[in-house]
Amino acid sequence: MYQALYRVWRPRTFSEMVGQEAIVRTLRNQVTTGRIAHAYLFCGSRGTGKTSAARILTRAINCEHPVDGDPCGECQSCKTIESGASFDVYEMDAASNSRVEEIRDLLEKVDYPPQFGKYKVYIIDEVHMLSNAAFNALLKTLEEPPEYMVFILATTEPQKLPATILSRCQRYDFGRYSEDQIAGHLKTVAEKSGMTAEPEALSLIARAAEGGMRDALSILDMCMGAGDVITEAHVRDALGTADRAFLFSFADALARQEGGEALRLIDELMRGGRDVQVFLKDLSAHFRLLMAAKLCGPGEALPGATGENRKRYAAQAETFSAERLLRTLESCMKAEADTRWASSARSVLEIFALRACDQPEDQDVSALLERIGELERRLSALEKNGVRAAPAASEAAKPAAPAPARPARPSPKAAEEPPAPEGGKMPKDVWNDALKLLKKTDPAVYAPLSRGKYGGFKDGVYRALFAPGEEIFMNMLASAERREKIEKALHQCGGGDARFEALPQEAAPAPDDGLREEKTLSGLIDTFGRDRVQIDE
Ligand SMILES: [Zn+2]
Repeated sequence: MYQALYRVWRPRTFSEMVGQEAIVRTLRNQVTTGRIAHAYLFCGSRGTGKTSAARILTRAINCEHPVDGDPCGECQSCKTIESGASFDVYEMDAASNSRVEEIRDLLEKVDYPPQFGKYKVYIIDEVHMLSNAAFNALLKTLEEPPEYMVFILATTEPQKLPATILSRCQRYDFGRYSEDQIAGHLKTVAEKSGMTAEPEALSLIARAAEGGMRDALSILDMCMGAGDVITEAHVRDALGTADRAFLFSFADALARQEGGEALRLIDELMRGGRDVQVFLKDLSAHFRLLMAAKLCGPGEALPGATGENRKRYAAQAETFSAERLLRTLESCMKAEADTRWASSARSVLEIFALRACDQPEDQDVSALLERIGELERRLSALEKNGVRAAPAASEAAKPAAPAPARPARPSPKAAEEPPAPEGGKMPKDVWNDALKLLKKTDPAVYAPLSRGKYGGFKDGVYRALFAPGEEIFMNMLASAERREKIEKALHQCGGGDARFEALPQEAAPAPDDGLREEKTLSGLIDTFGRDRVQIDE
């Protein structure tokens, strides 16, 4: 039967354990001197050797002939515990058994001394998952444990444990493994399994495992069976997603604004058969970590990154400004969402990359915001005087050539109903006929136009007025193309060479405020362009 590598290679003695030297030394010493604590707390992220150490300690303290603090592996006690047949050792996973009855059952048996060995040992994994009631039951036992009783509690999240429990335990913090430690161990395991592995392959696994030996062995497991030699390509295949080194290279290309290099990397990615959406997701996570590194500074803990990686993140974060990191992260997340709808995910990725390269590094957002704020102040001052900037929504339909400056016109309020010059038709009738015509011939113009109200005709100009909240329809009519269509319809319905204009309903006539207004106005036109600024008298 096939056994997973991490089971086959689980250390059976302290000597076989990789790393955690200080912890191993202390525990060994306790076994040798016989000074065993009643409660141990093993903290650390997954795959750092907590459970292995707990099992080794369990056997060592019960071993008939311990060797330098290690269990001998030969005696009756060692063999019974190893086979899982011992009644003196209970292992429970609080993540799946956190009901208070189960811990109570377990604790009721505390009163029975060990049948065979010196110590009765309860190993409770993921102990932070216990319910409050279960903690209270455990605490009672910890307050006055029988002489033979040993608890080994293991957790990935010690901060979730009650202080009353913490204070009764001898605590050991299991650090993540370094990439060297993992790669070194993987090499041994591969060799003992009759395989060879490229050093690059092993360091790739070590990096991907992020300090957890169990994950590293699982990845190595996935790479085996592809041949006698484990290559970097095998590992990339097994990992399925772009690896961290690639993410660093890609982010480097963006940092240096090297669009060509970014496209080359995308090509490499696609040749490897990678999924664009998965890559963008990984890249988002990468930029999130860079952002965290930027904000925390190099000394702070970076969730999701080990020691070596933390330094790499901090170093790469230095090559971006905080604003640029944020913008890149935003557009990366947007690109990830876009890939769901785009016909070519690759194009989405390429456009994202080129835009990210194109960002001017020194563009200072706060300065930009200040400039916008200043413009807004000028705008609102002008609005009081009846001058408006047409909102940017009309830009899509902007005419190719700037609209000619139009002569000043009377305010809508002054517009009353003089008869139209041609054919004696009343302007209101011309208007209504033009609307009817457009409804048939050009629904795309009629639809927004019908949302407005007839605003009168004066000096050759027909007006439609738009209530607050309907500005979007007004903006749709701001394009020269649509205006011309309306003017044509008015002409066909007997309106002669009338012009058309869409205005907001509340537009007030401008008070006379000559020079200052003109100066501000020319600044406004410089900023937004002539065709985006409309002037009412
Ligand atoms: Zn033994």
